[in-house]
Amino acid sequence: MSYELNKKIRKIEPYEPAKERVYRVRLDVNESPFDVSKEMEEEIVAAIKSVAFNRYPDMLAEETARQFANYYGIRQEYVTVGNGSDELISILLSAFLEKNDNIVTLSPDFSMYAFYGYLYENKVTPLQKDINLMVNIGKVIDYCNTHDVKALIFSNPCNPTSLGIKREDIVRLVKNVFCLVVIDEAYMDFWDESVMDIVDEYDNLVVLKTVSKAMGMAGLRLGFAIAGENISRALRTVKSPYNVNSLTQAVCTTVLKNKTLLKEHTEEIIANRRILQEKLHDMSRRYTALEKVYDSVANFVLVKTPVASEICEALADRGVAIRAIGNCFRVTVGTKEENEIFLSELEEVVKQIKIIE
Ligand SMILES: *Cc1c(COP(=O)(O)O)cnc(C)c1O
Repeated sequence: MSYELNKKIRKIEPYEPAKERVYRVRLDVNESPFDVSKEMEEEIVAAIKSVAFNRYPDMLAEETARQFANYYGIRQEYVTVGNGSDELISILLSAFLEKNDNIVTLSPDFSMYAFYGYLYENKVTPLQKDINLMVNIGKVIDYCNTHDVKALIFSNPCNPTSLGIKREDIVRLVKNVFCLVVIDEAYMDFWDESVMDIVDEYDNLVVLKTVSKAMGMAGLRLGFAIAGENISRALRTVKSPYNVNSLTQAVCTTVLKNKTLLKEHTEEIIANRRILQEKLHDMSRRYTALEKVYDSVANFVLVKTPVASEICEALADRGVAIRAIGNCFRVTVGTKEENEIFLSELEEVVKQIKIIE
């Protein structure tokens, strides 16, 4: 007898991070270009020194949740912490649904929703977005209400499309379906259509947030679920008790207190996005290989091109990491300097690429 992995696990391909090589410029995973640990070094060191390593962490990360709630002007009772928002997606799907329950995702979208759905043996149906990558809310409502759907989960703004759904449409959706609606607002700091402030009005709404993007702390692994009383209580009951370690709590609390710095970084990324987007638009007028530049409301720009993987490989050879996604490439907004390097390398690459018409 030998041990055999469960069938569903055997089929999964391991998650492949960008090839382990040294890049001059990394614009492939939507991180912030600003490392807060450099700018707040003294305060962060002091916070770390105050941590008692021999003690278990605060289960609810109360202080961190308080600062988070304060940053966004919401109520702390509605905030539950997770080890990255990834963990919260996993908890929501594993604990709130049963095997064979129907989950709806939108496609294209963040791959982790369908991944966890698959892992927990839910039935995942991806609803295709339209030709312009937009979502028809009416159709989603109809689908959910006619197919015994238990949960709907998507990102807004969406990774990878960079497009967003307005708050009024989200509200219409949440009001008109019976299922749980999970809205991943990882990129909402770069837009202004959040529904975090109305979670207490709808008992089927959960909003996910993370410190990995606008806040520049992807390395610390901290996410938040914002929901009304019932869902929040359930989440706290099923999450593992010490899911967020004391160092992460201490550092994130300290950084979250520095609203000014975080808002400045966010504003700068938004300003850089505008410039990057305009320059990509310019370039797309000059090179047919760049078919379309989407109007981003996130911290990355999506460009449609039939030679996405060729462009990404050529850029990687030049020390610039971006992501190919189907017939598009996605580039994270970096500092002005990083964006300039990316743009000039991209121009060199596109000049040389032949398109077979
Ligand atoms: C990057 C990203 C996250 C972040 O996940 P963490 O686990 O908090 O780092 C969540 N959702 C989407 C759509 C993302 O792109």
